[in-house]
This record gives sequence, C-alpha cells and structure tokens, in this order.
Amino acid sequence: MSQRISEVINPIEDTYNLSNYEEIRHVYDWHQAGEDLRFRDTGKVNIAYETIDRHVEDGYGDKVALHYVDGETRTSMTFREVKEKTDHYSRILRSNGVKKGDRVFIFLPKTPECYISMLAAIKIGAIAGPLFEAFMEDAVRDRINDCRGTLLITNRDMVSRVPQNDIPSLETILYAEDIEAAPVEHGGEQVEWMDLEDGMLIHYTSGSTGKPKGVLHAHRVMTHQYESGKWVLDIRDDDVYWCTSHPGWVTGSVYGLFAPWLNRATIVIQGGRFKAENWYQLIADLKVTVWYSAPTAFRMLLSQGDVLKDYDLSSLRHILSVGEPLNPEVIYWAWERLGVRIHDTWWMTETGAHLIVNLPGEKIKPGSMGRPFPGIEVGILDEAGNELPRGSVGQLAVKTPWPGLMKEIWGNRDKFDSYFKYEGWYVSGDLAYQDDEDYVFFQSRDDDMINSAGERIGPFEVESKLIEHPAVQEAGVVGKPDPVRGELVKAFIVLREGYEQSDSLLEDIRIFVRNNLAAHSAPREIEVMEELPKTTISGKILRRELKRMEIEKQKEAELKKV
Ligand code: ATP
Ligand code: MG
Repeated sequence: MSQRISEVINPIEDTYNLSNYEEIRHVYDWHQAGEDLRFRDTGKVNIAYETIDRHVEDGYGDKVALHYVDGETRTSMTFREVKEKTDHYSRILRSNGVKKGDRVFIFLPKTPECYISMLAAIKIGAIAGPLFEAFMEDAVRDRINDCRGTLLITNRDMVSRVPQNDIPSLETILYAEDIEAAPVEHGGEQVEWMDLEDGMLIHYTSGSTGKPKGVLHAHRVMTHQYESGKWVLDIRDDDVYWCTSHPGWVTGSVYGLFAPWLNRATIVIQGGRFKAENWYQLIADLKVTVWYSAPTAFRMLLSQGDVLKDYDLSSLRHILSVGEPLNPEVIYWAWERLGVRIHDTWWMTETGAHLIVNLPGEKIKPGSMGRPFPGIEVGILDEAGNELPRGSVGQLAVKTPWPGLMKEIWGNRDKFDSYFKYEGWYVSGDLAYQDDEDYVFFQSRDDDMINSAGERIGPFEVESKLIEHPAVQEAGVVGKPDPVRGELVKAFIVLREGYEQSDSLLEDIRIFVRNNLAAHSAPREIEVMEELPKTTISGKILRRELKRMEIEKQKEAELKKV
C-alpha cells in the first residue's frame, strides 16, 4: 500500500475518553470492578443470571438481545424472550436428570438455540461444553470422553457426525427441534446459586501446538469478562455488536456471548459461511457499530479489495481482532479504506478474557498487541524466570492471580502446573518484548521461533512483510532444519487472485523482504500453496503442520539418496 498515515495511529477524537488510563491502571481493583454485578450482595453467583435475567429485572426486558441472520432468515429476540427460552431449556435439562457440575455438551450451528443451550446448562449449575459446528465425529467423541460428558444437545442435521457409541459417560442426546417443540411450562425458579469457584464452562483449546486441552472456567471469570466488555469492546446501550466466531472457539463464547451480554449489548448471530459480500451487507443492514473478528478473515477481505466500496459501512466505530498476530498491513487497510481502527487483543483460552489490548482512547502501534488491561501485570522473563529489561525478547508471562484465570485443565494436573513454573507468574508459551511505553510486541510461539545461523527470527514479522507484497495473500513461515545454518527461513505463501507462480515472481518476493526487512530474515525458500493448513475452529495458520510437512519431505529425499 502506498500511503501510510504514520507509525502510530492515534485515537479518533470522540471515542472513549481514556486520557486517564495510567491513573486507572494504578488504582484498578478487581473487587471494586465486580461491584456492578449483583453477586456481591449474597456471595452466591450465576453467570447465566447476570448475562440475561438481571437485565429483565432491571427493566430492559423489551430491549433487543439478538438479531439472527442466516441467508434469507432474519429474526430478533428481546432479553425477556431469551430469558424465557433459557428457562424452558433449563427445565428440560433438569427433567433429563442434569445436576450441578455435570458436563453438558452443545453441538449446534451458530443459531440462537446454541447460545440458549449454553446458558440453560449453566443456569442450572452444569458445566457447558460448546463444540465447533464443523467438527467431525472423532473430534466430538474425544472431547466428550475427555471430561466424561453426560448429555449432548444437538440437532438432526448434525446426526451423521454425532457419535452414537464409545462414550460410556454419555447418557442422553437431546435434539434442539424437540426442545423447541416441547410444551412450555411457566414459573419455577431455574437459577442454581453457585460459588465463585464452581465450574461453568469447559473449552478445548485450538490445538495449534498439540492435543487440545480442556480448560475449565469458574463463575468468577464473569468479573473479567464484564470489565473487558465494558472497556475493550466499549459496549454502549445503543450498540449493535457482532462477533463472527462460533461459540465452539473461546472467542465466540466469551466475546460472542458472555462479555457483550453481561454488558447488555444487542448482539448479532450470523449463520452460514464466510463471503465478503454477505459480511459487508450484514454490517450495512444492521448498522453494526462494534465488530470482532480474526486476522485470517481480515486478510481475506483485504485480498478482495474493492468489494467493500459498494457498501455503506459508516456505522462502524471500531473493529477488534484476536487469535493470531495482526499484520500492520491489515491495520492500515482498515484505517485507510474503512476509516476505523482495528484494536488487537491478546488472550488465551486459559486466561478467560483479554490480557493485552488496544483501548479505544489510546494510540495504536501497528505490530504491537497493545498494553496490559488494567489490573493485569505483564512480565517478560528469561529461562530462569527473571524479568528482562524493556526491549528484550523473552517469555510472555502474567502476574497471578486475576479473576479470568482458568480453574484447571481437565484431568491433567501436570499440564496445569506447567503454566506456573515460576513463583507468582503464569507463563503463556508465547515470546514477546515490551517497549518503554508498556506496548507488547508478539514475536512467536515459543516453539515457532526460528534460529538461523545464530539469528533469532520471529515468523510473524516475516509473514507480515510478505503480505505487504502485492502478490501475496497469506504466508506461513517456519524454520526448516539445515545442516549449516541450523534452520533456514522457509515461507509458504498463497498468491492473490490474478498472480501466476514463476521463478521471477518468487525472487521478487524474496528481494522485497530482504530490502524491506533484513537480509537474514528473507526466506531462502518460498513454496506456493493453494491454501495454508489452519486450525478448524479458529482458522489459525498451523506452522507446526507446515514444519512437519517440510521434515517429512526432507526425510523422503534422504531415503531416495540411499
Ligand atoms: P493450543 O493451546 O491447543 O495449542 P491455541 O494456543 O491456538 O491452541 P487459543 O487459546 O485459541 O489456542 O489461542 C491462544 C494463543 O493464540 C496465544 O497463546 C497466542 O499464541 C495466539 N494469540 C491470541 N491472540 C493473539 C494476538 N492478538 N496476537 C498474536 N497471537 C495471538
Ligand atoms: Mg495455547
């Protein structure tokens, strides 16, 4: 892109006034933050009550809670309707024997029933386990087996992917169609009052680095989710808020459901697959104000260039991004073409809610994930667990505890303990550095850092430079084992439409990185792919898989020699 605003993108004048961020950060207190939530009166809690019922009691029963859009289907529901439906689902779960602490799995497409099923299970004290809609049978079976789920809510369209055996704990399968058709009873308090430490949600991680882990969250997570919804999503009463993720990924549940609804937002639930035209149309029609998605989707939109000029997207106040490093190119695209800022957010399934963010009233430094959320203290640690000086790359860690921190990894105490190997710290598994103004710059996953001829090279920086080249839509960069250099930088790229692979094009791309980033970072090998391997639920580039393929290829070549 030719024109650059400046290194830093400043806040747009009339957004959230956070000029006193420094002050807030130093006096921030999680107990105080929880004051807005009613649980403080009794000591007992239920996040499902705080998410929906509380708003009805507070007089907002007629406010629209959700718009549901799928193709031609368009419906809306008020908070009162969502409460009544949730109660109905809760009664049916109870009549099927669900008790406090049971694991109830939900395997449904992105429909209101999916959200309502999750809340209904939590409301009666069970632990909800949302499953991504595109999972195949084995993925569903592994997760239910892992934490011994007793009940599954699904629908008949998904039946072929619902495991019918090999799950000894699973007693009941309910179909959403039947729950919808069952006669609605009235009355009867459904809320089971819980302790802050009682479990409410189990989420399996994306599986970017290995077998997905079953992360259990307790009701106390709500304070963190509520506060980040208020400050980072910046929810206001007249907002129309759209998070594109399915609740089977933690972003789709925490920022698709809990954080916005704890803040009484009107949310959008959209079914169907990604198509740039449909997404822009939805924003224009519903006048979406706050929009949350992921870099992989933004890169697709960016590569489809001019499609957006046919839509009125002026309702947008800001966009949020999560899950993978946000390439500066994408930030500039949104700023130049949409006139809004993209706020990066960093967190993990295990952390329960945002930890590092760009707040609406603060400047953005493209390439950085932002600054620690108030109440969160970040450290960059060396191998011995000591804090490194500003500017040094090390292990990204967070001072414990905070309300969103997971309660346990289901059935795996050793794994859980491995996050806390240094006294007082939670270690993320990511590498980063922090500058003098506290901005945190993601470098790579611990395992993805490339070591070539003694230089440490973060794949993200190389990938971001690659996609600045007009021919490159997406890039995944890994270290390929090399007898001389230890590793060499290898890039896998997807070309944009209209570009043909040729030696001269690949050489041009290589030189582009060499001249604009650094000679040692320029990929020695570039391979063109139709698409990059990605995680199913969150669409993250699987560098682990690229590296595995590369090592396999090397092995085969070796074998041919003998
Ligand atoms: P698994 O733990 O199973 O390997 P995963 O780590 O991808 O999978 P998630 O909990 O979905 O599972 O993702 C958390 C990770 O995603 C972080 O540790 C980080 O590597 C990456 N991530 C999240 N947000 C950002 C961001 N804004 N910038 C860079 N990386 C991010
Ligand atoms: Mg992880």
